[in-house]
Amino acid sequence: MPLVPMRQILDEAAKGGYGVGAFNVNNMEQIQAIMEAANDTNSPVIIQASRGALKYSKLIYLKKLMEAAVEEYPQIPVCMHLDHGNSVETCMEAIQLGFTSVMIDGSLAEDGKTPNSYEANVAITKKVAEIAHMFGVTVEGELGCLGGIEDGHGAGLSDKEVQDHLTDPKQAEEFVALTGLDALAVAIGTSHGAYKSGRIDPVTGEVLPPTLAMDRIREIHTLMPNCHMVMHGSSSVPKELVDVINQYGGKMPGTFGIPVANIQDGIRHGVRKINVDTDSRLAITGAIRKVFFETPGKFDPRDYLKPAREAAYKVYVDRMNAFGQAGHAGDYKPMTLAAAAKLYK
Ligand SMILES: [Zn+2]
Repeated sequence: MPLVPMRQILDEAAKGGYGVGAFNVNNMEQIQAIMEAANDTNSPVIIQASRGALKYSKLIYLKKLMEAAVEEYPQIPVCMHLDHGNSVETCMEAIQLGFTSVMIDGSLAEDGKTPNSYEANVAITKKVAEIAHMFGVTVEGELGCLGGIEDGHGAGLSDKEVQDHLTDPKQAEEFVALTGLDALAVAIGTSHGAYKSGRIDPVTGEVLPPTLAMDRIREIHTLMPNCHMVMHGSSSVPKELVDVINQYGGKMPGTFGIPVANIQDGIRHGVRKINVDTDSRLAITGAIRKVFFETPGKFDPRDYLKPAREAAYKVYVDRMNAFGQAGHAGDYKPMTLAAAAKLYK
C-alpha cells in the first residue's frame, strides 16, 4: 500500500467512530515499533515528524525509512505527516518529499514561539491549503495555543495563559470555512511534553492534573459535526513509565498526562487524530536506563535499543486499542494523492 492522504484515514475514522494515533518519530526504532504495532493490531496509522525530527534525522533518512515501512507492511494504510510546519516553505518542502499530510501551525508566528493574530493565521493556513490540495495533500491547522514547549516549538504559556488561549468554537467555525483545512487542532488545555500541569495543591504541594476544557470539543462538534478535530499534547504520561525512569537513576518529578478516558470522550465528539510523542520517549528512556543500571558492562547499542523498541511497541499497541483504530486497517482501499487532488477541485 502506498502512503495515503490523511484525509482518507480521518474520513474513515469518522465513519467508524474511532480515533487514530499520530505518533512522532525521530529514528528507525520508533518507526519499526509503530509499524509492528499497527500490523499486530491491524490499525491504520499516522506517522509524523516535527521540524526538530527532520533536523535531527535529515529529511531524506526519514523519508526512506517511511518507504521501507510501507514496503514491509503493504496492507497497512499509513500517512506521513509534517507536525507543526511553521511556514509555506516548510510545508512545500515536505510535500515535495512525499509527505501525504502537512500541518501549518499558524497559531504561532514563523519563529514557532510568538502567538499569531487570528487574521495572520487565517491567511497562512488558507495559502497552505490551496497549495497542498493541488497535490492531494491533507492540511491540518491550529486555532488557539497550547502550553509547553517541545523540540523548541511552542509559546511556553503558563497554565493561566493557556486558559486565555483556548479555541473559541464560534471562531473555529469561521476559521474552517475561511481556510478550507481538513483537520483542526484545538487548544483545550493540553500541553506538549511530560509536564502538562503547573497547578500545585497549596495544601499538600502535590501537582494537580491539567484543567481540560472538554466542553469546547463538544461545542465545536455540535457546530461542525463533520470537522475532524486533533488533540495535541495528548500523551498520557503513565506513572509506571515515569517510575521506571526514576527507579533507574532518572529524575522526573511532577509529570502529568492526559487520561485516556478524556481522549476517548473527545473521540466520541469528533476528535479523530491524537498526537502522542512523550509516552514513546518515556518508554524508550526507561528501557535504556534499566539496561545501563542493571548491566553497566554492556556497550553494544543493540543491547539497549532492542528493549527500547519493545517498550515503545507496547505503548503503541496500547494506544491503538484505546483509540479504537485497531482492526480497521483493511476497511478501505488506499486513495492516491492524484484522486484526492481531484476531490478538492
Ligand atoms: Zn503539537
